[in-house]
Amino acid sequence: MTSLQYNRQLPNTLALPCAADTLCVSGIEQARDAVRLARALGRSLLPLGEGSNVVLPGALQGIALYVTDKSVHEVGRDNEFVTLRVGAGHAWHAFVCTTVAEGYVGLENLALIPGTVGAAPIQNIGAYGREVAAFIDAVHGVDLHSGDSRSLNAEQCEFSYRHSVFKGALRDRFLICAVDFRLSKHAALDTHYPALAAQLDGQAPLSAQQVLDAVVALRRQRLPDPELEPNVGSFFKNPVVDATWLRNVDGGTQMPQYPQPDGRIKLSAAWLIDHCGLKGLREGGACIASRHALVITNRGGATQRDVLTLAERVVHAVQQRYGLTLEMEPRVYGDG
Ligand code: FAD
Ligand code: NAP
Repeated sequence: MTSLQYNRQLPNTLALPCAADTLCVSGIEQARDAVRLARALGRSLLPLGEGSNVVLPGALQGIALYVTDKSVHEVGRDNEFVTLRVGAGHAWHAFVCTTVAEGYVGLENLALIPGTVGAAPIQNIGAYGREVAAFIDAVHGVDLHSGDSRSLNAEQCEFSYRHSVFKGALRDRFLICAVDFRLSKHAALDTHYPALAAQLDGQAPLSAQQVLDAVVALRRQRLPDPELEPNVGSFFKNPVVDATWLRNVDGGTQMPQYPQPDGRIKLSAAWLIDHCGLKGLREGGACIASRHALVITNRGGATQRDVLTLAERVVHAVQQRYGLTLEMEPRVYGDG
């Protein structure tokens, strides 16, 4: 474990200034030492990765806790599947590229999502019709209250759309140190997502590498690059409504609609925000991206307050026009 580093600026892709004390641990044993240290100091531990899905305050009272392990080990194999155990500190996109280069199929739709492997289970990252939950066999880590190590199988992770037990009962309670992925070289590609299908039109037969390249190209075209326009990706989740709601709301028939397995209908939060005329709306240094209505960017000097006030204005406008309350996707931290 590193020694406690005081008053560090925390990396985050919204480029918000945030000072906190930090600790880095290599894995489970050091994480248990960190729990003992925090207990002795009477401080809380806050797990973080690359900061691509967080809205940070000017200062955090808790200790920001990072996992540095980037290792990849094969821990199981049968005729069809290999199980890879990956350290939580490994960069997500690099891991996806490695698996595809080695001939494994499955993670290609999730290419170029920023962040670490350890954060991927937290909101069950998803894109272009796939979710990471389909490939997770187990999650290993440490309970930050008791200091005990624990492994959860996929069912215990309670994965659902952009959600898991780590955002629910185990929020701020569990440090993920490693994730087991179960991958096959013979799995089917999934290119049903319309934008992806259009990008791949005419390419056959398809390989996972071609799908990965298409996803990377699409994301580069459509999403603001956090290096150039600091952001945390989608700021709001897509709302899911009942069919009766759609029939009754003004303009409901024109909305893009994505039927869900349970009969309900997912709407596009980006479409709703755009149709409230909010692209380009500013609050201090925070702005609704003109390229993508679901993205809030830091145009320079934004504070957490700017970002949250802008988000509240969006929620209010969509509520007034459509009667729907948008839910924020990134984790917002107070100064506690
Ligand atoms: P952080 O932002 O640092 O943390 C996010 C949450 O995870 C926090 O609650 C934190 O406490 C927790 N956490 C992090 N590491 C650990 C750990 N080791 N143990 C326990 N808890 C931990 N998301 C998608 O789902 N799909 C997308 O397509 C997508 N596209 C994006 C595009 C852009 C341009 C950006 C900026 C973001 C995008 N995101 C997307 C959101 C984000 O990339 C993911 O949520 C990512 O998994 C966050 O990883 P991180 O390491 O940055 O985590
Ligand atoms: P898009 O293709 O313009 O589609 C807009 C929205 O409609 C998406 O949010 C998507 O929901 C939904 N959608 C479109 N086709 C669908 C289908 N066939 N079935 C179900 N839902 C469908 O989206 P985009 O903004 O360019 O993003 C592309 C993909 O990357 C999306 O999957 C998006 O979730 C993901 N992404 C996520 C983040 C993030 O921070 N969470 C940031 C950037 C991109 P879903 O979001 O449920 O897929």
